[in-house]
Amino acid sequence: MNEESGLVRELRRSLARLELALAQIADGLAITDGQGQLLWCNASFEGLIGRPRLMLLGQPLAALLRDAVDADRGLGVDGLVAARPKGGNVTTVVRREPLQVVEIHWRPVHLEQPAPYVFTFHDVSDRVSLEELRHRSQELMDQQLALAEQVHTCPVTGLPNRRGLAIAIEDALVRLDRHPGWLAVLFCDLNRFKEVNDTYGHRVGDQLLIELAQRMKEVLRPNDVLARLGGDEFVLLCTELKAAEDAVQIAERLLQVVGRPWRPEISDVPFVITPQVSVGISLCNGCGLSPDQLLHDADLAMYEAKRRPDRPVVVFDEEIARTLEWRVQIRSALEQALRSQQLTMHYQPVVELASGRVVAYEALVRPQHADGRLVSSADFIAVAETSGLIQALGELVVSQVLQDARHSGLLERGLGLAVNFSTQQLGCSGLAKELIAAARRFGCPPALLTVEVTETALIEQPERTREELAQLRQAGFRVVLDDFGIGYSSLNWLAELPIDGLKIDRSFTATMLEDRRRHALIAAVVNLARELQLEVVAEGIESEDQRAALLAMGCSLGQGFLFAQPLSPAEALGSPTPGPLPPAAC
Ligand code: C2E
Ligand code: MG
Ligand code: MG
Repeated sequence: MNEESGLVRELRRSLARLELALAQIADGLAITDGQGQLLWCNASFEGLIGRPRLMLLGQPLAALLRDAVDADRGLGVDGLVAARPKGGNVTTVVRREPLQVVEIHWRPVHLEQPAPYVFTFHDVSDRVSLEELRHRSQELMDQQLALAEQVHTCPVTGLPNRRGLAIAIEDALVRLDRHPGWLAVLFCDLNRFKEVNDTYGHRVGDQLLIELAQRMKEVLRPNDVLARLGGDEFVLLCTELKAAEDAVQIAERLLQVVGRPWRPEISDVPFVITPQVSVGISLCNGCGLSPDQLLHDADLAMYEAKRRPDRPVVVFDEEIARTLEWRVQIRSALEQALRSQQLTMHYQPVVELASGRVVAYEALVRPQHADGRLVSSADFIAVAETSGLIQALGELVVSQVLQDARHSGLLERGLGLAVNFSTQQLGCSGLAKELIAAARRFGCPPALLTVEVTETALIEQPERTREELAQLRQAGFRVVLDDFGIGYSSLNWLAELPIDGLKIDRSFTATMLEDRRRHALIAAVVNLARELQLEVVAEGIESEDQRAALLAMGCSLGQGFLFAQPLSPAEALGSPTPGPLPPAAC
């Protein structure tokens, strides 16, 4: 036992001596395991990498070298370590700090399997002339610059990418401190670019992007920066503006240059695309905004511009911030409704104008925000449409309405129910099938259900919408055209559409007594509808005089605050006892 510990002590002593000796030599020494991870190294190797040994042990040698040296052209550092040919090898690398040429030898130690490797690092700078050393160093710097450029530019257009832009905005913000003025970020998003890619292919899409980059450069002033963030998003950074309005003028020039018709070069089929962009602008005149915030605000303003095709340029301001925040809140109310499968519907009576007798109810969604504020149904529907949740909301509306009707006994009383469907809902096939199934599940006779649609659905997707509506009518549901008069209604439409009636928009009713032309128009529509055997409902009746005038024209049905506001289910339908929805909602 004692002998053994004496042996161990002796072994330790000679190892320490060896370690001391190896620490004295100028060459770096390193031993890796079969996988290239550092098992041991001497003090010179620590110096070469610039970190203490404890931080190096167990690390992949390739990664350590990559940080400290640039390998020769022929063999990258990774390759150097990975290749480890059986007989060993030698290569030279350039150390960056201080500038040195280092020769690396390595050979396997055939004691274990997989074999560990011994690496020696020898400074051979004196063998290389100073001139050559500088030359090598310049070459390496060029390579690094080219690499850095790749990291900062978009490969398709050659413009700065998101990183390049962030650096440019940071620089511009610093300059803003020295030269007061305005800085503007113009966020441009190409409208319907996806359609170009889907229809004509990515080659044409790329070509269009290159063309747009060229065109946008036409509006650049000397210090402006144009960047491409990816997809169809371009950002123009303008500095040294005298006034905030200058940014809007630049955006308008952008719209002009982008909007010129374009014909792709590589297409066999000659076709012309007229590109359009939406532009959101954020501005700063030394207000301490970060590059991220400026970009984010411009992005939000761009979304606002996209929402309103009549305003392709939008400048970010507090109102937009509030609107967007409100929309986020509406969305959370919508998500909550979908999660809980609970939705408040209100019901507005449709009455016989002569007697005031209720013949049906129109269901109107009455969303409520968590803080109790009422959300306008039009806003609610708009958010559902833009966030892709309109299908799910539509299904919930139908289930809720049919459930309210069943619990209140409305259906037994033979009263009709009208449900609104937005353009997007009609755009998805399968609506008719779903509605038929839902009516069956709740025991609702189709004849009592009216589907209200607007003209936009019929104009945007005429074939599909007509098909769906025809199926619904075939199944016994009624279909009416809502908000008639404010869209693009043509007389042709009325003759051709698969509808049972129309609802005159409340903007006509509101002005009919003061505006003789409107009065005449309503009278003509009522007559025409009678000839075409279409039922007419006048919306938005608020006064006795309006009711009398409509009756005199022969309009027999109406809706409006004169008779009732939209009412809660209990007020309108009786006293529905809320119950769980059937499991497969719609
Ligand atoms: P709409 O279908 O034309 O509904 C009638 C709108 O006029 C309702 O507004 C109603 O409250 C309002 N109204 C009724 N009588 C009068 C009146 O005498 N004077 C005035 N000034 N207004 C009156 P609401 O509930 O804000 O709904 C707005 C629109 O939102 C609806 O127009 C409809 O297009 C849509 N909408 C409502 N609920 C739903 C729904 O469940 N699904 C879908 N897709 N759309 C819905
Ligand atoms: Mg309606
Ligand atoms: Mg309406």
